[in-house]
Amino acid sequence: KVRTRFAPSPTGYMHVGNLRTALYTWLIARNAGGTFILRIEDTDQGRLVDGATEVIYKTLAECGLDHDEGPDVGGPVAPYIQSERRDTYGKYARLLVERGHAYYCFCEKCESEEDSGDFDRSDDPCRSLSKEEAEARVAAGQPYVIRQKIPHGGSTTFHDAIFGDITVENDTLDDQVLIKRDGMPTYNFANVIDDHLMGITHVVRGSEYLSSAPKYDLLYRGFGWDIPTYVHCSPVMRDAQNKMSKRHGDPSYEDLKAQGFLTGAILNYVALLGWSPRGELAEQEVFSLEELARAFDLGGMSKSPAIFDIEKLTHFNALYIRAMSPEAFARAAEPYIRQGVKNPDISAEAVAALLQARCEKLTDIPEKVDFFDALPEYDVALFTNKKSKTDPGVCRNMLHAAIPMLEAIPVWNQEMIHDSLVGLAEGLQVKNATLMWPIRIAAAGKAVTPGGAVEICQILGREETIRRLKLGLE
Ligand code: GLU
Repeated sequence: KVRTRFAPSPTGYMHVGNLRTALYTWLIARNAGGTFILRIEDTDQGRLVDGATEVIYKTLAECGLDHDEGPDVGGPVAPYIQSERRDTYGKYARLLVERGHAYYCFCEKCESEEDSGDFDRSDDPCRSLSKEEAEARVAAGQPYVIRQKIPHGGSTTFHDAIFGDITVENDTLDDQVLIKRDGMPTYNFANVIDDHLMGITHVVRGSEYLSSAPKYDLLYRGFGWDIPTYVHCSPVMRDAQNKMSKRHGDPSYEDLKAQGFLTGAILNYVALLGWSPRGELAEQEVFSLEELARAFDLGGMSKSPAIFDIEKLTHFNALYIRAMSPEAFARAAEPYIRQGVKNPDISAEAVAALLQARCEKLTDIPEKVDFFDALPEYDVALFTNKKSKTDPGVCRNMLHAAIPMLEAIPVWNQEMIHDSLVGLAEGLQVKNATLMWPIRIAAAGKAVTPGGAVEICQILGREETIRRLKLGLE
């Protein structure tokens, strides 16, 4: 039975790449009716960031990536936080020493190597210490690390579901540290132990771990354990050369939310960065999470890096906005409408109805609708419009004729406003646009508005409409 895990280190934000890894990991589990596990990898205590674990929980919950086992929900292989498992790792490291695949190293330089990863194993004297001597030194309280004993010579081949078979020469692999001086495991060791003890069948992670995979394989073999299926995900790039990175200003999931993108659109777009549907779904662009879970397959995953394109995400966001029910959109849009329109007499729901077909991001809303609150100062030049056949003179005539008629409408609703204006245009023998253009400019004070003259007048109310149209005459 398929068991996958998302294993973030709580070191900061949820990057787009992390979110995609979480999504693919969840999809592989759900597609197979398997189990999705959350494991927090906090062995590198120096890099922990306050609040980062909360961001992980919040993001997964918001995205609907529910976990079956994890620190907060428990499970059969608890604990799910690595710092709470520290006793486990030492035991397995010693077992590996006994099996001849690891050794105690007492060298002074260990500490700096733990951080830099630089290690010239050809001259490490501890590799060849006798068992007795090493044990005596440990018993005497000498500080040590435990290192992996990579075979001299030969090569190691591992298999990845996306990248296929990869072979490396053992001489290019370092005797990496497994247990640090403080007794904590390195990430490289802990992930192997935990993936095994937690029964993980598919290890899904970023392709930056491809170079470590042969060492993991040697660890599994050293223990005599089954090797899980590796699924390495190609990176998400800002451009052809650079990976996305928060440090360089690329947006995290939270930033994208703050920029007005909807969770569903973000997930949908991110899913397609590195995976494409095949067969009869090949042309489909919009996927719900359930549809993704049904359609997802390893065969559709790509080896090539994917470039994150904010325009493309914006396109998905617009599709998601159009697809919402009017009620759901009104609920989501209201806070943004109220940023632009403080006047409580203006109905946020009515404004939302105008916006749904015309906005790409919720954050676009305030500046699109603030004219409802206050008429912007505008130039008479706006009254000139070739298509509508208007100029300031024509517009004066139109406003003159429209004002008394709008004042006389019995009920102020869209139908009445529409019918009487269309009737007036007919009476004046002008195109509808010749009449509607000046009304919309005078009512909104700008050329680009969500909604036409009729909708805008209706929302403004009769009194405010007449006031604005009269200002247009001045
Ligand atoms: N803790 C690692 C990270 O956040 C996880 C990598 C893995 O999934 O094994 O990069």
